[in-house]
Amino acid sequence: MDKFEQLKQILGLLRVFENEPLAKHTYFKIGGPAKFFFAAKSVEDLKLALSTAYNLQIPFVVLGGGANVLISDKGFDGLVIKNQASGVKLVGIKGTIGRTGRGIKNALIWTASGTLMNQLAKFTLDQGLLGLEFLLSVPGTVGGGLKINAHFEVEKGEFIGNRLLSATLFDPKTGSFKKVDRDYFNFSYDSSKIQKTGEIAIEAVFKADAASDKEELWQKALDDVRRRNEEQPVGIACSGCVFRNISKEDAIRLSTPNLTTSTGYIIEKLDLKGAKIGGAQISDKHANYILNINGAAAHEVIKLIDLIKTKARETFNLNLKEEIFLIGDFN
Ligand SMILES: Cc1cc2nc3c(=O)[nH]c(=O)nc-3n(C[C@H](O)[C@H](O)[C@H](O)COP(=O)(O)OP(=O)(O)OC[C@H]3O[C@@H](n4cnc5c(N)ncnc54)[C@H](O)[C@@H]3O)c2cc1C
Repeated sequence: MDKFEQLKQILGLLRVFENEPLAKHTYFKIGGPAKFFFAAKSVEDLKLALSTAYNLQIPFVVLGGGANVLISDKGFDGLVIKNQASGVKLVGIKGTIGRTGRGIKNALIWTASGTLMNQLAKFTLDQGLLGLEFLLSVPGTVGGGLKINAHFEVEKGEFIGNRLLSATLFDPKTGSFKKVDRDYFNFSYDSSKIQKTGEIAIEAVFKADAASDKEELWQKALDDVRRRNEEQPVGIACSGCVFRNISKEDAIRLSTPNLTTSTGYIIEKLDLKGAKIGGAQISDKHANYILNINGAAAHEVIKLIDLIKTKARETFNLNLKEEIFLIGDFN
């Protein structure tokens, strides 16, 4: 039996597809076909798909919302598991419930890793819980968020990792599952250990504090959304910020205004705003965004990325590092 038949036998006859175009599963609207494609609708589905890929020795990649990837024009020569395992619920409350009312201090929230971060944020806001509201309207899933340590206002410590308590991971080297706590991830700006290990987040538990004023909290979250929409291009296919910000040391060395670490500022200084290759363009609004303005191919985006990196090295002696993850063969 070939691999496709084996996958269908285990994951469902009508649930595994061949040559699924991946462009439609990414915010960039770019990417060739997946050799095999399976949408995991539950935590059990996700675990089964991962174990199956391991047992059948099929290369695999997990796609969350597809908001932080660039997929090769050749697609992916293996199994793409689209993580739609969604769910969020309260699993613990700390505090007191007495005659004078509820004195909740904090709560634990369980999520499946395919839950949209926006959904997680809405849930906590509705519960009057503070700490994850900055994820309102941030595209992508909890799993993708843990991999990059999704954030908003970095100076205020608004990182998804700061609120994580524990998670269950799949280890692609051993095919096993394990529960880990927050420290395991070694989170920092745009970084977590699972970027190196390739481990896959299955489910996660977060801790959030009771807000003193729920209306105020909603207002703050909506203000964040408004600010994001003002600063970022809206409604055009893209994958968010392409590069990680520069280090504080480089900002000091280059005497950037207010010592900003913004790579958008650097690209603007390189005079690359609006630069175009094929259907791909560096945004006029926020230079760390590359937009797919007209049926761009992955290789065109790569050319723009190379152009930015080369100029940043030559002009500022900077080695810019991608924030987006490349999937597939780019040779
Ligand atoms: C318009 C726009 C605005 C954005 N604004 C922000 C912002 O304000 N703040 C911010 O932090 N980010 C922002 N981003 C980037 C994006 O939202 C985040 O990087 C998000 O975490 C991506 O999640 P995802 O599920 O889409 O990941 P994907 O793009 O699907 O995957 C990204 C990487 O994570 C891996 N992955 C996916 N799921 C899992 C899993 N369960 N376990 C382990 N690895 C996994 C993938 O294999 C891939 O390597 C923005 C993006 C866009 C398009």
